[in-house]
Amino acid sequence: MLMVEMTLPRFAFFEGKIVPYSEAKVGVMNHTLNYGTGAFGGLRAYFNNEEDQLFIFRAHDHFRRFLNSTRLLAMEVPHTEDELVGVTVELLRAERHRQDVYIRPLAYNADEIIGVRLHGLKNRVSMISIPFGPSAKNDEGTHVTFSSWTRVPDNSIPARGKIIGAYANSALIKTEAFLAGFDDALVLDARGHLTEGSAANFFMLREGVVITPPITDDILEGITRRTLITLIREELGMEVVERSIDRTEVYLAEEALLCGTGVQIMPVTRVDHRPIGSGKTGDFVTELRELYFNVVRGKSPRYRVWNTPVYLPEVSPEQRGIS
Ligand code: PMP
Repeated sequence: MLMVEMTLPRFAFFEGKIVPYSEAKVGVMNHTLNYGTGAFGGLRAYFNNEEDQLFIFRAHDHFRRFLNSTRLLAMEVPHTEDELVGVTVELLRAERHRQDVYIRPLAYNADEIIGVRLHGLKNRVSMISIPFGPSAKNDEGTHVTFSSWTRVPDNSIPARGKIIGAYANSALIKTEAFLAGFDDALVLDARGHLTEGSAANFFMLREGVVITPPITDDILEGITRRTLITLIREELGMEVVERSIDRTEVYLAEEALLCGTGVQIMPVTRVDHRPIGSGKTGDFVTELRELYFNVVRGKSPRYRVWNTPVYLPEVSPEQRGIS
């Protein structure tokens, strides 16, 4: 469960500039607050102690998806992908973070009006960052159930983007599971196929093959999901199949995991009171998690293109010609 002690940010990107967080405010009539008409993103930046550097993970991919999410809502936000990466770097520098952080861009409608619609609204972007360590329960396995809620289908609210209003669905799923004593829930679509967790994508291992639902089964197009597909194929040399998954296949899986920027790699070791495989975190998930943490922290040369450095390299006295 993601219940992390949070301190408020010192700064926010708001109305086109970086301001003290206390100045980044909207009124209670705000359109997005009233109707859920907006989109958001969620990135992490990881601090690398050896290099004394903070690396944003897959910043360009996250902002491409963020802008795609706004397009699903017919929003026209006044920023490009590159600009948003630049804003993130500026914001993180302003905060002077020297630890792992979470970054939350938000596309919202600034209008204070009554009337549900998407057209003719003032589309704006805000962003904040906060220190953010590992989420709880990340090292042990988690116990999940199948939710009694179904995932919001593409033809109702597109699940492939991070649409604010659709997160009422995720919240219903999460709280039902939590109150029933589980860590999270797996969610079926209207046809009974597995989609994902409340806020994380799903992978399972069966007979040596890794299986994950396709992006046409009402899932968020997760960046961590894409990262893992690459790592499993390229680094572990295993086959990944994107296909629909039935509920009872999960009961028979040898290993399973939930993944996302927030939860990172979360082994799933029990489902509906049944052990998955041995009921303990298995070798596949353990190895994949190790690889993932090396990559996100900028320790894997092959995937360095995914790590955007925040701070300028320090110029040593020798480099400046001072001895
Ligand atoms: N599914 C949902 C519904 C989510 O909210 C998230 C978290 N953004 C994910 C999957 C994982 O996506 P990502 O790896 O891009 O963080």
